[in-house]
Amino acid sequence: MDDVAAAVASQLNDQAQLGVQVTDIGNVPETGPANRGVWGRIQDVSAVFADLKGSTRLNVSGSRQNAAYAYTYFIRAMAVVLDRFGARYVDIQGDGIFGLFSGPGSAFQAAACAVTMRTQAERVVAPRFDRDAATDWKLTAGVGMDRGTLLVRRLGLRGAKQNEVWAGRPVNVAAKLSSVAGANEVVVSDRVFSIFRGTSQLRRRALLWTCGCDDGITGGGLDIQEGQTPHLWDEEAAPPEMGLDIARIHRLQSKWCVVHGAEFCEVIATGARRVG
Ligand SMILES: [Zn+2]
Repeated sequence: MDDVAAAVASQLNDQAQLGVQVTDIGNVPETGPANRGVWGRIQDVSAVFADLKGSTRLNVSGSRQNAAYAYTYFIRAMAVVLDRFGARYVDIQGDGIFGLFSGPGSAFQAAACAVTMRTQAERVVAPRFDRDAATDWKLTAGVGMDRGTLLVRRLGLRGAKQNEVWAGRPVNVAAKLSSVAGANEVVVSDRVFSIFRGTSQLRRRALLWTCGCDDGITGGGLDIQEGQTPHLWDEEAAPPEMGLDIARIHRLQSKWCVVHGAEFCEVIATGARRVG
């Protein structure tokens, strides 16, 4: 053990001598700086975190094969969605997966991504899992989203024992919000929701209000003014035990129908309505 203590102390001496320099970088990079104590700082990063709900119960009570199916289907599907919506960095953490978005309009690409993750988990991943795995356990996702400044650096040992470390609130808060989210819910911080509120009327219409369809009755979708259909989000106080630095959270519980969903999602991501 003396060897270990000496190695740790020597490593800390090296790092202390290097010090820490923080450099602004414009966008989320594919890999963080790995050289000489440099951290990259990126502003206005949106983090989306999808958590496989109830996986502890699956691991304890279910067969290993069912757990392997659940993780494989869930992580692969969510990785595809993150990629499609232009996440610049994707990583797996425990039984969850997160993506980072930066640059113009990235809050809305992240929002459309978050909503699509929950929809795909419910409508595509869960039915496929039910078909292929022999268990009553239900596959559902909790999705969290936050936004803010992140620091990044590549840390660890050489080669494969090295990874990006993202310091700052957004990834941490998004992960916590994904655990606050119920089955197939999206939960966002008030920082994120104030951006939703401040966007263009068309985007707000798509992001905050339902399409108006109900029980076989077809609503008007985007042709109906905002405020004329039910609100999609419930606002509540952030649970104090989460230790979050945010006061309010917003929970997406209701949803658009299968017919309007794709159009609404596209408007959120692009800000424009497809003609024709
Ligand atoms: Zn509809």
